[in-house]
Amino acid sequence: MLSNFKVVLVETSHPGNIGAVARAMKNMGMDQLRLVSPKLFPHADATARASGADDVLRAARVHDSLQQAIADCQVVLGSSARDRTISWPSVTARECAEKWGGGAAKENIALVFGRENSGLKNHELDLCHYLLRIPCNPDYSSLNLAAAVQVVSYELFVASGREYASSIGDRGEEPLATAEQMEAFYTHLHETMADIGFLHPERSRSIMRRLRRVFNRTQLDTKELDILRGILRFSQNHNLK
Ligand code: SAH
Repeated sequence: MLSNFKVVLVETSHPGNIGAVARAMKNMGMDQLRLVSPKLFPHADATARASGADDVLRAARVHDSLQQAIADCQVVLGSSARDRTISWPSVTARECAEKWGGGAAKENIALVFGRENSGLKNHELDLCHYLLRIPCNPDYSSLNLAAAVQVVSYELFVASGREYASSIGDRGEEPLATAEQMEAFYTHLHETMADIGFLHPERSRSIMRRLRRVFNRTQLDTKELDILRGILRFSQNHNLK
């Protein structure tokens, strides 16, 4: 968990956005949510939009002021879609992740997000060490609040180096086929194509070369190879009937 990062939402109007922020945070392994004077909270819309992240919502701390919400933080970043007339030192979401992500920072780091309609006020940015920017279309630069939290927390997640291999499917569990197993497969494939009358002896070399190219483009694992050989055996048996 990126527990030293505290997501602070200032005077959020729509409780649905608070729920969507909780969800975005949990997706990226964050759980520290602080709310400064939210208009409506707790609220059914927040819980609904949080989906399975209602634990993050339940644990959210509510504060009366931004000062209170960031009191225990050593680094404070105020995120803003707008360029300001006064120039604060600024970092992009990626630079923020490179600088303080990756488990390097021991400090508590506040990521402060503003109101949906008016963002953060200048006196609130005065409490921040850096302006945090998500680079985007300059003609349309204001992201939805939860989308902004999503982008920043995604960058922190990637920088944290936590295991993010896909858990979809079982790819990776079976050992890859060896060269010997692949050769046995090509022999079997060749035999089967001859048995079923598909291969013309004169063209068999170029067809086999092309087929090797197809299979060499993908690295088959032993289970996938078993399936293909099962299909070949089935075609041979079927052909004999
Ligand atoms: N209309 C507001 C923006 C509201 S979006 C304004 O003019 O400032 C709500 C919050 O999402 C912003 O206060 C900011 O914290 C964050 N946000 C939205 N787009 C962003 C961007 N491109 N970069 C950094 N933060 C952004």
